[in-house]
Amino acid sequence: MCNYQVTLAIFKPDLVARPVSLNLVCRMIEKEGLSIVCRKTLRLSLKEAEKFYEEHNGRFYFERLTTYMQSSDINGVILGGEDAIKRWRRLMGPTKPCIAKRDSPASIRGRFGLCDTQNSVHGSDSVENAMKEINLIFPEFCWKEWLRSLK
Ligand code: ADP
Ligand code: MG
Repeated sequence: MCNYQVTLAIFKPDLVARPVSLNLVCRMIEKEGLSIVCRKTLRLSLKEAEKFYEEHNGRFYFERLTTYMQSSDINGVILGGEDAIKRWRRLMGPTKPCIAKRDSPASIRGRFGLCDTQNSVHGSDSVENAMKEINLIFPEFCWKEWLRSLK
């Protein structure tokens, strides 16, 4: 069965600020067998961060999260591979680093997460959201070309 997918990963500001940890995360991605299809450094505006996390608008942490995400550079990454969405989320670990450290200490958030807001990485949670998020962070990504490259 072939279920090749792309997903959007973000290396959040706390991870980008720690190059040694960032390199270790790239090694974990490689070891997992996921490929980095595109990667770029960017800085979101507050508006872009609010749009990206619009599903969370109204939650108690929304302002903290969006302010954090526009506070400095992030890396946008398109990951590709068999079941990439689920596999990247498994590699990320639970949302809260304290839970990740307890239940999944070898995951990215278990190893590198600092707190509930500064939890190092983002990953799309469905095919639909992966498409939406890739389009937001990589408006230049050419889906047609990518589909052609799979044939
Ligand atoms: P995930 O990033 O694992 O998909 P969510 O989609 O639930 O998690 O939340 C999006 C982001 O919002 C999280 O990665 C985290 O940075 C932040 N967040 C979620 N829950 C909390 C919380 N209880 N307190 C602070 N920040 C939170
Ligand atoms: Mg989420």
